[in-house]
Amino acid sequence: MSEEFQSHEIRDKILIEYKYTMGGQSKFFIELMNNKKILGTKCKKCGKVWMPPRINCSECYEDTDWIELPHAGTIQISTIVWYGAAEFIQNVPYGCAFIKLDEADTALFQGVFSENLVPSKIKKGQRVKAVFKKREAREGRMTDFFFVPEDEWERWIKKPEFEGGE
Ligand SMILES: [Zn+2]
Repeated sequence: MSEEFQSHEIRDKILIEYKYTMGGQSKFFIELMNNKKILGTKCKKCGKVWMPPRINCSECYEDTDWIELPHAGTIQISTIVWYGAAEFIQNVPYGCAFIKLDEADTALFQGVFSENLVPSKIKKGQRVKAVFKKREAREGRMTDFFFVPEDEWERWIKKPEFEGGE
């Protein structure tokens, strides 16, 4: 007597908790979370200032030093986001831009919020300034801060959930 094997399958889930390290860039996230500092790096050889920070210069491969950068900068290129993943959906629509902080040589990609989200406010050349979540809400993530048009900054940092950094 031969009976063909039949497997009985049950669909289930596995929840995996994990952590990851920011490695050599950890200092950027720690200073952001604890002290509202925006740290870039400066090449020891050619002097290029990297934002986001790079541990080694991508131009000449030398080590870099940490430097504190100003919280204001200029939009290089931007768009307005109408669809987002779960973490960002409550903010839609919002701006996204490559922002060159004053004193940096490269641009950082970050969210740009505005009380009046129109393309004329989120565009190349627009001056923006950083707004931070309050200390208890900062987790050492890129979502700890965002940018707003410079002329809205005073109003944004008066909101109960946010504060200015300098
Ligand atoms: Zn260099």
